[in-house]
Amino acid sequence: MNDFNPNRYAVIHEKNPREIVMLRGKGCSWRRCRFCDYHLDSSPEEEANFLLNKEQLQKVTGAYHKLEVINSGSFVDLDEPTLALIEEVCQKQQICQAHFECHWRHRDAIANFRKRFFALGVELKIKTGVETFDPLFRESYLDKGIDTDNPAEIAAYFDEACLLFGIPGQTVESMEKDIQIGLAHFERVCVNIMQENLKPIKPDPKVIAAFTRELYPKYMENCRVDILMENTAFGVGGVVEHAK
Ligand code: SF4
Repeated sequence: MNDFNPNRYAVIHEKNPREIVMLRGKGCSWRRCRFCDYHLDSSPEEEANFLLNKEQLQKVTGAYHKLEVINSGSFVDLDEPTLALIEEVCQKQQICQAHFECHWRHRDAIANFRKRFFALGVELKIKTGVETFDPLFRESYLDKGIDTDNPAEIAAYFDEACLLFGIPGQTVESMEKDIQIGLAHFERVCVNIMQENLKPIKPDPKVIAAFTRELYPKYMENCRVDILMENTAFGVGGVVEHAK
């Protein structure tokens, strides 16, 4: 994706304040989720990725001593020089907590990754896209690739869960149930409202309106719930296939 030029660094001042960088890796190895085009922000060229990532990581100031790293995939998709630079930046800017994202299929890589940063005095928070805790909807419709229907099993590896709302078939009840399960098992929940892209699953405006009316006011002040009404709400990113 050479024509995708999103903002890749931002500072989040509300709820769990932190800096956030959107880096680029070799790309998600799952790539099957039927709603997702994020994985297009990737490149097999490690050196080009590192140069792009370096430019963003140099912007990190340590303002809140917390850093979130996203890379449209999992931390395992980042090249080693980028990971080493993240470690260096954490030490230089006194980052004590770093967030990374990871797909379920890479869960066994998490323990060593936590140890690696713990040795530097950095606590890791690992976020995963669950999208919904309804396993039938998630796997037969979204094709998410999580082969357990037990939220506790997911939470044994991950600290934070992302949910995807605004999909046809969701209701106020199903979305609230997802938030409640997320809050019962995870430290934090991140609600993403679906935005249209060129993938087969399209957002349902009625579901988004119902969320906005019934659930947004109820959870907007909850410090354990991030709500992204647009996928650029954290100040980074964009809709890949519509990028010019
Ligand atoms: S949502 Fe995540 S796991 Fe699914 S294809 Fe996209 S980047 Fe990969």
